[in-house]
Amino acid sequence: MYLYNSATHKKEEFKTHTPGRVEMYTCGPTVYHFAHIGNLRSYIMEDVLEKYLRFAGYDVNRVMNITDVGHLSSDADTGEDKMLKGAKRENKTVLDIAKFYTDAFFDDCRKLNIKTPDVVQPATGCVEEYIKIITRLMDTGYAYFAGGNVYFDTSRLSRYYIFNDHDEDDLAVGVREGVEEDANKRNKNDFVLWFTKSKFEDQALKWDSPWGVGYPGWHIECSGISMKYNGEFLDLHCGGVDNAFPHHTNEIAQSESYLGHPWCPHWFHVHHLNDPAGKMSKSKGEFLTVSLLEKKGYDPLAYRWFCLQSHYRKTLLFTWENLDNAAAAYNKLLNRIASLKPEDSDVDQTVFEEYKAKFIQQVGNDLNTSMAVTAVFDALKAKTGDATRLAIIGEFDKVLSLSLLEKAAAIREKAAQATTAGGGDYVVTGEGDPAIDALVLQRYEAKKAKNFAEADRIRDELKAQGVEITDIKGGASWKRV
Ligand SMILES: [Zn+2]
Repeated sequence: MYLYNSATHKKEEFKTHTPGRVEMYTCGPTVYHFAHIGNLRSYIMEDVLEKYLRFAGYDVNRVMNITDVGHLSSDADTGEDKMLKGAKRENKTVLDIAKFYTDAFFDDCRKLNIKTPDVVQPATGCVEEYIKIITRLMDTGYAYFAGGNVYFDTSRLSRYYIFNDHDEDDLAVGVREGVEEDANKRNKNDFVLWFTKSKFEDQALKWDSPWGVGYPGWHIECSGISMKYNGEFLDLHCGGVDNAFPHHTNEIAQSESYLGHPWCPHWFHVHHLNDPAGKMSKSKGEFLTVSLLEKKGYDPLAYRWFCLQSHYRKTLLFTWENLDNAAAAYNKLLNRIASLKPEDSDVDQTVFEEYKAKFIQQVGNDLNTSMAVTAVFDALKAKTGDATRLAIIGEFDKVLSLSLLEKAAAIREKAAQATTAGGGDYVVTGEGDPAIDALVLQRYEAKKAKNFAEADRIRDELKAQGVEITDIKGGASWKRV
């Protein structure tokens, strides 16, 4: 596989420390609020990456943290504590907030067909690991104690700005509005490893440490959790592009200073989802969640499809119109798959292997997901029988996870039921979409049973999909307008 590496700024052949095995780490959510769909774009693309690696034959160990302590509203360790903010907002304890939003996050993941990583570790469960790392960093002079907190000394490093896609100005701490500079820091980019003194007198979660009762900084969590479950040599570290600095830079600084050898050679960053006003955020405009998409009648997998159509290194623009287009294309594809006949013939293994090899090669070019989607359309047109086409599509869906075969089977079944219900005395003609045919028949059945409310509801549903029905002798015809 060839994958762009943010640490070297180029596309490289992906190699691992142990051949055939990938130690993979993903920065997980800070569980103080629902994830917005921009956050989830990263998790979708990382999920595709993991599934692709497995598909291509790697054994993958994927680890993710859940940040339930230590993450302040500025990634540079200033501002409010995000978990405390969530607890105050909802008048609950920090632990209740963490539990509630962790569950909500995994509900969203399930709806988006995102696999749960092999290891999911809440940050509060690994405090011993952080203390072990910080102790060595103090002993070796990479960390210092000032004003009650332990800081990492970035001046000790010859190589700190590893993701130097950033302007020098962006690197300055305190540039964000409303963020005060911490006077205890010796260098502007030093960061907190352990807090004992902060403005949060009411900090709920505290642990004993050699430097006093307190809690860990955000950055140390990922290093500690990764080393515990991935070992000393990580192959692939993933996250949203806004994690690159300072979070990932700091992870590298502390991990390599602790280990005394290079830590993770390959860094994968997913770019932003923007709305027309700019970068999507929780505090600005409409708070776009998976539940909101569902409330508005979208299948969450239509959003997954929307993300897959675009490359992970490009900013993606979210508008309702763009999502509508994606949903329509996804439904159209499902209907085309539904029209294939599963019992058609035997699977042609030669064609199947040929398509699979091409898919591995094409998608392996820097996780080209739009090519993966195109590959499904190519499979529909393959010069072979329907059984082989379905087998190929099912195989590709191990990476895409769009529930293509399941949803197509459901459409087929619904259409079969509707045809039976129609009893053959009512014929629907339209544009060859079994799902719409089924709805038109259901409307007829409802009218026949004098259930006019239901008939009207179905008519409105069809109208919302842009379908116009004309009653004709012995049935109905429909078209998209
Ligand atoms: Zn992280």
